[in-house]
Amino acid sequence: FSFFYAYFLGNPKEPLVTVPGNLFILSAPSGAGKSSLITALLKQEAKQEADSSKRTLAVSVSHTTRAPRPGENNGEHYHFVSVDEFEKQIKNNAFYEYAKVFGNYYGTSEAAIDKQLAQGIDVFLDIDWQGAQQVRMKRPTVTTIFISPPSKEELEKRLRGRGQDSEEVIASRMEQAQAECSHYNEFDYIIVNKDFDQALLDLTIIVQNQRLKCRQQSIAQQALFRKLLNNDAQEQN
Ligand code: GDP
Ligand code: ADP
Ligand code: 5GP
Repeated sequence: FSFFYAYFLGNPKEPLVTVPGNLFILSAPSGAGKSSLITALLKQEAKQEADSSKRTLAVSVSHTTRAPRPGENNGEHYHFVSVDEFEKQIKNNAFYEYAKVFGNYYGTSEAAIDKQLAQGIDVFLDIDWQGAQQVRMKRPTVTTIFISPPSKEELEKRLRGRGQDSEEVIASRMEQAQAECSHYNEFDYIIVNKDFDQALLDLTIIVQNQRLKCRQQSIAQQALFRKLLNNDAQEQN
C-alpha cells in the first residue's frame, strides 16, 4: 500500500499527483463515424480546459502500412510505415496489438499509450475488433465501445459522402462491415450513430461515467475525503 500511496498520492501534505488515465476502445465498421465522434469529443474537451481539474484526453496514433489519404499527415493521423518496417516492429514486440485490416497492417505502439496513461491522460484507441480482442485480454479494465451505423444504406452513403475512397475500396469496406458488426456483442457499450449530437452525448456520458468511478475519485478527491473524515488535523483549523 505504501508504494501505491507514494506513487499515486505523493506526500499526504501535498496531495494529488496523478490519477492514471482510462483506456477506451472505439470500434465500428468503416464509415460509421468513429473519427468524427472522436474529433468532436476532443474539441469539446479542449473548450473545458480552462478548468484545470478536468482530465485530458488523447487519441492514440496507430502505425499503418496503408497509403495516406489526401489531407492525412504522418504522425498526426497515423504513423505511415512500410511493410518491412512494420514487420520489423512486430518482431521487436513494439505493438500492444496489431491486425491486418483491409489487407493492410494496423497497430498500436505500447510505449506511447503507457506513457500517456501514466501522465493521467485518458486514451482512445480507434481499432478494429481483432485489436479490441487482443487489448481486452491484456487489460480487462479497458472500456470498449462499438459504434453502429443506423443502417447499411446509411453506412454506404457516408462512405461515399466522405469522398476519400475509390468505388473498389468502398465495396470492400461494405463487405467487411458485416464482419465488424458481427462482433457487436463483445463490447461494453453500443452507440448507434444516427443523430450525431445524440451519439456525441452518449460517448461523453460513457467517458464521464469512467471518470466518476470510486476507484478514480478516491484518488482525485483524497484531500476532500481527508477533511470530511477529520483525518487531517491541520486542515480542520
Ligand atoms: P476508418 O474506418 O475510416 O477509420 O479507416 P481507417 O483506415 O482509419 O481504419 C481502418 C481499420 O483499421 C479500422 O477497422 C480501424 O478500427 C482499424 N485500426 C485502426 N488503427 C488500428 C490499430 O491501431 N489497431 C488495430 N487493431 N486496428 C486499427
Ligand atoms: P469512420 O472514422 O468510422 O470511418 P467517419 O467519422 O470518417 O467514419 O465518418 C464517415 C462519414 O460520415 C463522414 O463524412 C462523416 O462526416 C459522416 N457522418 C458521421 N456521423 C454522421 C451522422 N450521425 N450523420 C450523418 N453523417 C455522419
Ligand atoms: P482506415 O484505413 O479507414 O483509416 O482504417 C480502417 C480500420 O482500421 C478502422 O476500422 C480502424 O479502426 C482500424 N485501425 C486503425 N488503426 C488501427 C490499429 O492500430 N489497430 C487496429 N487493430 N485497427 C486499426
